[in-house]
Amino acid sequence: MPERGDGGKDGGKGGEKVVPFPFSRSGLSKTKNPARNLGLTALSAKADRSGRGAKGHWCANCKGIWYSYFLECECPVCGHRG
Ligand SMILES: [Zn+2]
Repeated sequence: MPERGDGGKDGGKGGEKVVPFPFSRSGLSKTKNPARNLGLTALSAKADRSGRGAKGHWCANCKGIWYSYFLECECPVCGHRG
């Protein structure tokens, strides 16, 4: 029915719809090709081996995510930039 029907729940603005989390149905860890954890870059591992708070970067080549504390753009596993 019309959107104005459920006013009040979202704080009154009504412009933004709550979109269901895309992984809720398929399950992020159960997909056929889950993102691999490629670990920290060498530089970041020196800074903090725990990796806590590091920023994740997607590597399309490895189909995984590597982590860095710095503004690095090179995958530590394959060297792919991006
Ligand atoms: Zn890579």
